[in-house]
Order: sequence, then structure tokens, then C-alpha cells
Amino acid sequence: MHPALTRIGDLVLGTERKVRLRVTLAMIAFYGYSVSSMLLLFAIDIGLVARQPGLWLLTYMWVGMTTFYVLVRTDWSSRLGNPGMDLPQCLYATAAILWAYMIAGEVRSSVLMLVALVLVFGMFSLKAREVVILGIFTVASLGVIMAGMAMHDPKLDARLEFIRFVLAAGTLPAVSGVAYYVSQMRARLIEQKGELAHAFALLQEVASRDDLTRLVNRRHMQQRIEEEALMQLRSGEPFCLALIDLDHFKRVNDLHGHAVGDQVLKEFAGAALQALRQTDVLARWGGEEFLLLLPNEHPDSAQAALMRIAKCLRTHQHSPGASGLPVTFSAGLTDHPSGEPLRETLERADQALYAAKAQGRNRTIAHFATALTPAQANTLADARQV
Ligand code: GH3
Ligand code: MG
Ligand code: MG
Repeated sequence: MHPALTRIGDLVLGTERKVRLRVTLAMIAFYGYSVSSMLLLFAIDIGLVARQPGLWLLTYMWVGMTTFYVLVRTDWSSRLGNPGMDLPQCLYATAAILWAYMIAGEVRSSVLMLVALVLVFGMFSLKAREVVILGIFTVASLGVIMAGMAMHDPKLDARLEFIRFVLAAGTLPAVSGVAYYVSQMRARLIEQKGELAHAFALLQEVASRDDLTRLVNRRHMQQRIEEEALMQLRSGEPFCLALIDLDHFKRVNDLHGHAVGDQVLKEFAGAALQALRQTDVLARWGGEEFLLLLPNEHPDSAQAALMRIAKCLRTHQHSPGASGLPVTFSAGLTDHPSGEPLRETLERADQALYAAKAQGRNRTIAHFATALTPAQANTLADARQV
């Protein structure tokens, strides 16, 4: 769309999605009032409608329409507890139509048709209860107006007025009924949409998490690191990966049973999450093996994260209710140079982990693809987990 038109659209309808939708509905009323106003002016001009009552009705329509537009567009309507102002707008429009009915002379029967139009409009915006209120208001007011007119206007044939009323009062409940049904269906659809969104979120959670540790699972992590690698191609930000494996875990199972082994895995996950930054991601990569993603991390500072995990794990193991087993871990740390296939990065981390195991466990060995300065290399050499 042309930018100027978009700007005018934003100005008239607003930019906030919900307000925009409500104002759009109010604009449908604007269309109805505009067409009716032109017809009314024409009717006044040809003498079908008396000037004074006609102009009063015109004023009523435009004052009401402008007020509703301002209320909805500025969202003051939300403060009044009725964001869309749907029922008040429908009642206001029905009152305008009934007013027109009183002054429309020979064409009053045609004017009556518009009442059904308001109900149809209400079908898509009102709640079921509001549709009933609108229906009752319409039929009752029509009855009062017709009876009043038949009594006060001697020129009016009361029998004709009676036929008109029965026809309207017979048809309107049917239209109301359909409107009621549609709005109930709408409410059900909205409810089902909410339930579906909730179920979908739950399903995503189940599909991406490991049952035991509640860490993200391997499949999710695979996607996550692929995304990170793609982002790195654009931003150039470095990131590191560490493969972590619990030491002699088989012994834990053999000596204390599988249930204690499970508890130790959970303890490790809890301690690690406490030690990490919110942006770091730890996944259960398989069995007692974990993969750690450290976004925005330079190789020389990455090792500190693993030291923090080791420290936190020790504190955790001594806390009340913990297994109390002094389980340690070995880790293979590496960086991911931009554009390198992830398979190669993981392979390097795996080799580093193998080296950590071979050198006696309970340590982190780093194999970086990017060359470190001597100072950085020294910092790493000093890093020990024990
Ligand atoms: P290393 O220090 O060389 O890693 O020795 P390890 O004993 O940890 O390694 P190994 O691969 O021999 O044993 C891993 C054990 O982890 C074997 C397996 O039964 C256990 N394991 C894997 N998944 C789970 C789990 O979900 N719960 C429990 N309790 N044990 C598990
Ligand atoms: Mg192990
Ligand atoms: Mg293992």
C-alpha cells in the first residue's frame, strides 16, 4: 500500500492491533450512518420528513457516532469497562432506526428492515447474552412506539400498525436466535483456540525437554546450535561449546542403585543451571553426557563457566537432601569458528573430553580452533577444577 495511505489508515484506525479491530467495526457503523444521513437529507428535501425532527435525528446520529469513535480510538472505552462498546453502539443505532421509523411517514416499513441489520452486525461482535438484550430491547421499544403512534395519530390505521408489529416481532426473534447461536459459536471457537494454544505450548515443552533433568533435549539443542551458527555468520559473535561427561558414573549406579544415579543427574543439572548465565544453554546430550552452549563467549573466558559449574556442584552435593556423593565431571571445551560445520566442532569437543578423561578426569581440556595469545593460554593452563 502507498505509504501516505498507510499513514492515514494508522491515524484513523490506530496502530495497536486490538484497537484497530474495534475501530474497524465502529467504521462499519460510520458507513451505515453516512448512507442513512444522505437519505435523510434527501427525504427532508423532498418533504417526506419534517425538517426539524429530521435535523434532530441527524444530530443524534453524528454526535453518537463521533462519541463512540473517540471512545474506541483513544481506548477510553477500556477504562469504562467495555473496550469495543459493541452493545451500546447497537442499542444506540437501534434507537436511531426506531426514531427514523417514527418520522419516516410512508417509507417507515422499509426503515424497519435496518433493525435486522443491526442484529446481524451484533452477531459478529456481541456476546450471546448481549444479543438477547438487544433483541428484547428492539421488540419491546418497537411495540411501545407502534402502540403510542397508533393511539396518538388519528390518521394512522391501527390495524396496519398491528400487522407491522406482528411481522417485526415475529421475524426479529428468529434473527436474534441466529445471532445468539453465532455469537455462542464464536465464544466456543475463542475458547478452543486458547486451549489449542495451551496444548501446543505444552507439546513443544514436552518435545524439547528431557523428562528426568528438565534440561533441553538433544533434538532441541541440535536446532539451537544450528541457529546460533547461522546467527554467527551474520553477527560474527563467537560462541563456545563444551561436552560434559560425569566421571565414573557407572560406579554410582552399581554401588548405590539406578534411582540414586538419577538423583545425581538431576543434582548436576540443577547445580549447573545455577552457575550459568541466562543466555547459556545446557542440554542433556545423552545418558550422563551434557552439551553446554556458551553464546557470545570468547575462548579465553569460556573455561570460567565450567569452573563455576564444578564449584556449584560441590556446594550442592553438601546441601541437605542431596545425594552427598562427590561426583565430578570432565569436559571438552571448544570454540566454533564462523562457517565451520558443527559436526567438526562437536568432534573437536569430543576429542578434548577424551583427553580430559585420559589425563585423570575432573578437569576441562580446551581444544580451540582459534589460536590464543600466550597470555590467554596461560590463563587456561591455570584453570583447574580441583
Ligand atoms: P567415565 O568416567 O569414563 O565417563 O565413566 P562412566 O562410568 O561415567 O562411563 P560409562 O559410559 O561406562 O557409563 C555411563 C553410565 O551412565 C552407564 C549408564 O548405565 C549410566 N546412565 C546413562 N543414563 C542414565 C540414566 O538416565 N540414569 C542412570 N541412573 N544412569 C544412567
Ligand atoms: Mg561418564
Ligand atoms: Mg559417557
